[in-house]
Order: sequence, then structure tokens, then C-alpha cells
Amino acid sequence: MIDSVRLKDVVASGRCTGCAACMVACTRGGIEVDEFAIINDELCRSCDTCSDVCPVLGGSPADEFDNVIAVYKSRAKDMDGQNGATVSGILKYLFEVGEIDAVIGVERDEEWKASPVVISDKKDIAKIAGTKYTYVPIFKAFKDAIDEGFTNIAIVGTPCQVNAARRIKNSNIIGASDKIGAIIGLFCLESFYYNGLCKNLIEKEMGIDLKSVKKMEISKGKFIVMSDEEKSVPVKDLGRYVRLPCHKCVDFSAYYADLSVGSVGAPDGWNTSIVRTERGKEIFEIAKKNLEIEDGSIDAAKKLSERKRKMARER
Ligand SMILES: Cc1cc2nc3c(=O)[nH]c(=O)nc-3n(C[C@H](O)[C@H](O)[C@H](O)COP(=O)(O)OP(=O)(O)OC[C@H]3O[C@@H](n4cnc5c(N)ncnc54)[C@H](O)[C@@H]3O)c2cc1C
Ligand code: SF4
Ligand code: SF4
Ligand code: SF4
Repeated sequence: MIDSVRLKDVVASGRCTGCAACMVACTRGGIEVDEFAIINDELCRSCDTCSDVCPVLGGSPADEFDNVIAVYKSRAKDMDGQNGATVSGILKYLFEVGEIDAVIGVERDEEWKASPVVISDKKDIAKIAGTKYTYVPIFKAFKDAIDEGFTNIAIVGTPCQVNAARRIKNSNIIGASDKIGAIIGLFCLESFYYNGLCKNLIEKEMGIDLKSVKKMEISKGKFIVMSDEEKSVPVKDLGRYVRLPCHKCVDFSAYYADLSVGSVGAPDGWNTSIVRTERGKEIFEIAKKNLEIEDGSIDAAKKLSERKRKMARER
């Protein structure tokens, strides 16, 4: 046993992202996660195993692009998604060829409250398509998927979530480390508090009924809300609603993913996709049948990554 659990410092510093990876690591049921992790001191035995999977303690590399194998411009042939639906297209094909038996995704209710969900059938992929700019504890659903008996699970998530997924995969946590079949990352500059973004900004300030919103998008310096009409505000208006842990985060392009997907650097309706591991290469090769693919550029992602690091230094 050790004296202190490092995870407690992460929570105390306000940097806990609320990913819930630590819940997967704790075999004693000693952690609950809502916005952030709460350790139950009565159940905790101070083994510190939970700290080994925490993305904040894992940290980010100095050079976020030193593992890039290939960069593509891509879009799914027959699916709708946030941008080119590359993520949905890949997931669909991985299901079709039996490479995965479940996906951890994020769905939303009619008021855009997001929650993690286990998807086990390709026909349900449309339920998780589209970006929710708020944050969810995706590893709660990963835990459910393991409990339900899935053994080859794809994790899709923001860079911090992907960092945790890689740490779980590289760990020796029995019953979890061997259950991750693919790690797909999303580019991410920041995420937002639900009440701030949805209730204050969209509902009160922009005067839009959340139930009528079909899509939200951050593009070319604007936050765009699409309902029956399209309204937008400058992205800087979102600054006050950025989640605290995002302030110091420096990974933009999901370094620890097998494959990272974003919109920046690609034309409207397309994605920029970065292959980062041999497994990522394999996944892209398998999913090619479902995608249109052209050569891509990493320059715009690099610029946003630099911007993210600058913002983290200044916040
Ligand atoms: C919080 C956030 C911020 C982002 N910021 C940027 C950015 O600054 N620049 C950029 O180029 N791209 C950004 N992205 C990525 C972009 O919005 C798209 O997710 C990406 O381009 C993939 O598009 P697609 O059409 O292939 O997605 P789709 O095929 O529509 O698939 C979307 C996938 O994203 C998952 N997802 C949705 N919301 C969340 C969430 N909150 N947490 C975890 N997973 C989620 C779904 O489960 C689904 O699997 C961000 C994404 C998120 C979640
Ligand atoms: S230190 Fe060990 S027992 Fe305590 S919460 Fe973390 S994993 Fe659970
Ligand atoms: S693993 Fe995730 S939820 Fe747990 S302390 Fe770290 S950031 Fe927070
Ligand atoms: S900015 Fe960082 S901490 Fe915030 S959601 Fe994105 S990857 Fe996670």
C-alpha cells in the first residue's frame, strides 16, 4: 500500500476530465464519476491502480505529430455524420467484417444532454453520429460493455479519452486491457459545460429552442447552431463556458489513437484523417471500401495544435 492516491491531486487541481477511466481500474468500486471523480475513502485501499490509467497523469508528448504514418482527406460513401462521417463509415465496416463487437459512442436526448452508450449493431451507428460539444464519462459505458460480455470494443473519443483508452490497453487490468479492439480519436480544441453552452448560450442568449436544434458546428471562427434556420456567434463568446480541465490540455489531434479524425484542413463535408499506428493502418485499409479517400494535409491541424498549446500556457 502507498500513502497517497495520485488521482486525488488531479481532482483537487480541477484537471479531472471526468472520463471515468479510473472507475474501470478500481476493482473495489471505490470511485464514482459525475463531473469529476470522487473516491470513497471507506472502500479505497490506496493501491493507486486508478492513477495508472488517468490521462491527466499520463500527460502529452512534446511533439504531437511524431507518430504520423499517413494523412488522408476522407468521407463515408453512404452515411451522414458531423463532417464526412468518416468515423461512422469506419465503425460500420468494422462491424460488417467482424473486427469489433461493440462501440462506445455518445448519444444525446432532445435537449442535447449527451451520454455514453454501448452500440452493438451497425444499424444503430446513426444514433451516435454528430458532435456533442459537451463532455461525457465514456468509460462508464466501456465498463457496461465489458459486463455485457463484449470482447472487442472500439473506443471513439476526444484526445483525453483516447489517452485513457491507450493507458487501459497498455495496462495489466484483468478483464479490460484486452477488450479494446480499436481506438479512434477526434480532434478537439476544447469542450463545454452543458448548462453554459446549451441553457445559457443557445437557449437564453441566442433564443433557440434546444428541441429544434439539428446540428451544432464550430467552423471558421464561428459557433453555428442549425435548427429551422441557422444562427451563429463568434467562437470567442464560448470562452466562458469552456470546461476547467480543458484549460490546460495540450493534445489537439488525439496522439494516442490508432486513427485520429477531425474537420480542420479538409473541405466542407470531408474529414482529415491521421493514421498513427499499425492497427490504425489496418483499420483504414479494412474500412477503405466504405470511404472515399484522397491525399490530405496535416498543416491546419498543426496550426490548431500550436494554438491550443499557446492557450494552455496563457490560461
Ligand atoms: C468536444 C469536441 C470538440 C471538437 N473540436 C474539433 C476541432 O476543434 N477541430 C476539428 O477539426 N474537429 C473537432 N472535433 C471533431 C469533429 O467535430 C468530428 O467529430 C470529427 O471531424 C469526425 O467527424 P465525422 O463526420 O467522421 O463524425 P461522425 O461520423 O458524425 O461520428 C461522430 C462520432 O463522435 C462521437 N462523439 C460525438 N460527441 C462526442 C463527445 N462529446 N465525446 C466523445 N465522442 C463524441 C460519436 O459517438 C461518434 O462516434 C471535435 C469533437 C468533439 C467531440
Ligand atoms: S487507489 Fe485503488 S482502491 Fe483506491 S480508488 Fe484507486 S484503484 Fe480503487
Ligand atoms: S481517470 Fe478520468 S475521471 Fe478519473 S481522475 Fe483521471 S481524468 Fe478524472
Ligand atoms: S480539450 Fe482536452 S481535456 Fe478538454 S475535452 Fe478536449 S481533449 Fe479532453
